[in-house]
Amino acid sequence: MITAEIVSIGTELLLGQILDSDAPFLAQRLSALGVNVFFRTTVGDNAVRIGDTLRQALSRADIVICIGGLGPTQDDLTRDAIAGALGVPLQRDPELVAHLTQWFARKGIMQPKPSIFRQADVPVDGLPMPNSYGTAPGLWIEHDGKVVVALPGPPSEFEPMVEASLLPMLRRYLGTSEQVIVSRTLRLVGMGEAEAESQLLDLMKGSNPSVAPYAKQAEVQLRVTASAATTEMANALIQPIVDEIKSRLGIAVYSDNDDDLETRVVMMLVERGESVATAESCTGGLLAGRLTGVPGSSEVFGTGVVAYSNATKVALVGVQQATLDAVGAVSHDVAAELAVGIRKVSGATYGIGITGIAGPGGGSDDKPVGLVFVGLAHPDGVDVIRTVHTGSRQDVRLRSTQQALGMLRSAILRRSGSSP
Ligand code: ATP
Ligand code: MG
Repeated sequence: MITAEIVSIGTELLLGQILDSDAPFLAQRLSALGVNVFFRTTVGDNAVRIGDTLRQALSRADIVICIGGLGPTQDDLTRDAIAGALGVPLQRDPELVAHLTQWFARKGIMQPKPSIFRQADVPVDGLPMPNSYGTAPGLWIEHDGKVVVALPGPPSEFEPMVEASLLPMLRRYLGTSEQVIVSRTLRLVGMGEAEAESQLLDLMKGSNPSVAPYAKQAEVQLRVTASAATTEMANALIQPIVDEIKSRLGIAVYSDNDDDLETRVVMMLVERGESVATAESCTGGLLAGRLTGVPGSSEVFGTGVVAYSNATKVALVGVQQATLDAVGAVSHDVAAELAVGIRKVSGATYGIGITGIAGPGGGSDDKPVGLVFVGLAHPDGVDVIRTVHTGSRQDVRLRSTQQALGMLRSAILRRSGSSP
């Protein structure tokens, strides 16, 4: 069993000024390669502490991969620290000196600062790894049965170097063959991350394919990832897991390709020759915007009203003034009247009404910020769901439209005989 340890180097990472995106990127690639990562360390730009960290990593891992600190400045200490930890001297590589000289000459800099050439220093017996996106080459050093790698920190350099140089070198070193990584994303509606996870715990323990949930702004997604020698073989590993997830989560899975919810809903309406109309208050047309963002939506969507003021709710959608006076605009009854009213005005199969308090101000004890009522009028009546969303104004607005689309999808499925 081969183990690797990732050492992220940079005081800015410790201060929280930047997030370490390189290490997770690398960790995913290593796991797909079958290399175990038991430790990831972050250390600041301090020679003694970097040295200690490297010695400890070398004592417990076969492969140590350092990220960052390879540049030309005083705080770039990785090169010297590796040489120190391995007990080998640095040597200036004439080819790298020539490469750096050319790089700067192309930019019109004929005499770069002498410190630039520190980037041409390589531990004896080390191999420089070419960097087409920046000046600092990476390093690959095999020493006493261990491998030490160093790659520059900027993600625009790090990520392509991992793909183009490090992974091929690791495969050669480990004697493993070329692998492709394929992912499929399942998108969920009306089910949270915790619930999805509780039904998939056993599948999430697998590593090839791996199953991982991602909570996005308005929905949970599940990513199924497999590595294999070919795309076809990876897909063959993925398909049974996708089928199993769909059978366990049922209609909560609305898409297993890249279709978003509005696309799925418009397609369903087109297939059935049905239509929808919207009357939106707190979402201000966001739902109509999402629906009309789908090519071909004119077949199923003809009317969307932004009924932001009470006067408009009454004049254009037929909400009763008496209802507004009795229970207020943000209420179960107004959501229902918006939905029923817009369905009647438009002649659509379904009418959607949304009213709520998107925040950040305007809440009260009985009507808190995030309170949204979504009404859905259909040929058999009207349903209203009350939710208190969390998050920013934009989160509340987006989640309200997501909920409306989810309700519409359920109603379409119900009417056409599919559960529930
Ligand atoms: P450079 O030649 O640009 O100095 P370097 O290898 O010396 O490259 P660092 O000086 O450590 O890299 O970092 C340069 C920049 O790269 C950082 O300011 C940061 O924006 C980004 N960076 C460094 N490490 C990481 C990381 N682990 N994850 C994401 N970004 C990083
Ligand atoms: Mg630097």
